[in-house]
Amino acid sequence: MLLNDERHELCAIGRRLAGTGLVTGASGNISVRSGDLVAVTPGGMMLDRMEPADCPVVTMSAQLVEGDRAPSSETPMHLALYEATPAAAIVHTHSTYGAVVATTMPELPPIHYNTLLLGGVVKVAEYATYGTPELAENVRKAMAGGKRAALLANHGGVAIGGDLDEAFENARLLEWLCGVYVRAKAIGEPRVLTEEELAKVVERGLTPPEFPRVT
Ligand SMILES: [Zn+2]
Repeated sequence: MLLNDERHELCAIGRRLAGTGLVTGASGNISVRSGDLVAVTPGGMMLDRMEPADCPVVTMSAQLVEGDRAPSSETPMHLALYEATPAAAIVHTHSTYGAVVATTMPELPPIHYNTLLLGGVVKVAEYATYGTPELAENVRKAMAGGKRAALLANHGGVAIGGDLDEAFENARLLEWLCGVYVRAKAIGEPRVLTEEELAKVVERGLTPPEFPRVT
């Protein structure tokens, strides 16, 4: 089976995503890249019920090379992000606070310095219908400049990483940051960190880890 280890990892991360509530039902999708091949979750399947053989393998040009099930409808977005970034794994969720911020704001105001672990201020990609090349392009734009995450207007969030664990942790961090912002907003006006304050944190060395080379 092509990308055997990677497909096992997809299933493990799928269970963790469902367990932490970052996805519900069959929403959300995950992929992992190895060279010119990408293993992705199948469309319409609960992420905590998948078996490795359920996960199709596609080329970077979206050609199905192995698997009986159709790749996730959001595969064009995954492939666009692999083209545009050195990511080796991508996690897309419909997490609650991410969706709240993505429905109301043009970006997630930097209220906590850990936003720097996601490459800076997280942008909200313009709305487009799910699964379309237009959405893929909007998300690619929102991730420009070394970002590790973006929100998708009226939809959810996406995070990338050097491996699936890192993409999963970035998705969790994105949801945590959105949760802090939304809750802070409920009791007052959150103070937003200035560029200078963020720059001082970068000086202390808080930046995302380097991406490993894609093999
Ligand atoms: Zn989605």
